[in-house]
Amino acid sequence: MIHRDPPRDAARDLYRRSGGRKPGGPTPPRGEEAGTVKAITSLANPVVKELRGLHLKKERAESGLFLAEGLKLVTDALEEGWPIRTLVHAGRVKDQPLVRRAVDTAKARGALVLETSDEVLTKICRRDNPQMVVAAFAQKIGRLADLMRPEGVWVALEGIKDPGNLGTIVRTVDSVGAKGVILLGDCTDPFALEAVRATMGSLFHVPLFAASLEEFVAWKAKTGIRCWGTHLKGAVDYRTVDWPETCVLMMGNEQSGLPEAHVAACDGIVKIPMAGRADSLNLAVATAVTLYEIRRARLAL
Ligand code: SAM
Repeated sequence: MIHRDPPRDAARDLYRRSGGRKPGGPTPPRGEEAGTVKAITSLANPVVKELRGLHLKKERAESGLFLAEGLKLVTDALEEGWPIRTLVHAGRVKDQPLVRRAVDTAKARGALVLETSDEVLTKICRRDNPQMVVAAFAQKIGRLADLMRPEGVWVALEGIKDPGNLGTIVRTVDSVGAKGVILLGDCTDPFALEAVRATMGSLFHVPLFAASLEEFVAWKAKTGIRCWGTHLKGAVDYRTVDWPETCVLMMGNEQSGLPEAHVAACDGIVKIPMAGRADSLNLAVATAVTLYEIRRARLAL
């Protein structure tokens, strides 16, 4: 599968974005030694400051990092081999076997490991009742030019704005066994904390690609993959399409739906029938309903 065996160029791109000099992981924060464990209590610690900064889009963009909160998410990311820079855990959970395993893996991959207080974790997570384990990983976003033999079902999202919707869609893509998500144009940051949380860990299993509409159209022409858009003005019931095993499902954004240029890039436009007085379905719900139909024959309990 693509996410387990990323194309070489994408991997190189990733390596560059992560700022790492060491294959497989970003460098530890400045002044810190790779693979070390430190105890910290000060809120003024520069690493704490760096992690707090990852709540901001600008700092995520500059560093190429993002925060994953909670032992499940951190373990998922480590198991999928995401490059880790820093792992922070509460001192009181240090003897839990799964925490120890995460710490050992992070150390072995050259990350800085910090043991700290609940107070510091509250600051890093910017909320009461923080998670006991959080980590900073390098972001991964591929280029469509590296995906020349797409197989399976892909979801293209035009200008999606709500991070919760994006995270929910990534989770749904994972749930139906679709292959990945293509972010078209100006989309919300998939590495924003709210998006990461909403994926419930699926972010680490579902490859993400970013492209302009022009790049998408060129990729579609080169690969021959077919694409269906969803639109309230669609004349075809989504349940009547003979969905191929490999295709793209294109979704419009929350406010304005699919623009004309995107409709023109599709091979077909479908609609989900609406019986009541609601104008439209929520974007993540419409994506889920359509994906389950596309994958219906291939899903079994
Ligand atoms: N006002 C927008 C419009 O006119 O398209 C509504 C956008 S809707 C909240 C977000 C996206 O979900 C749409 O662009 C479309 O991709 C999909 N969608 C929602 N309800 C749909 C339906 N009944 N049939 C087809 N697509 C739908």
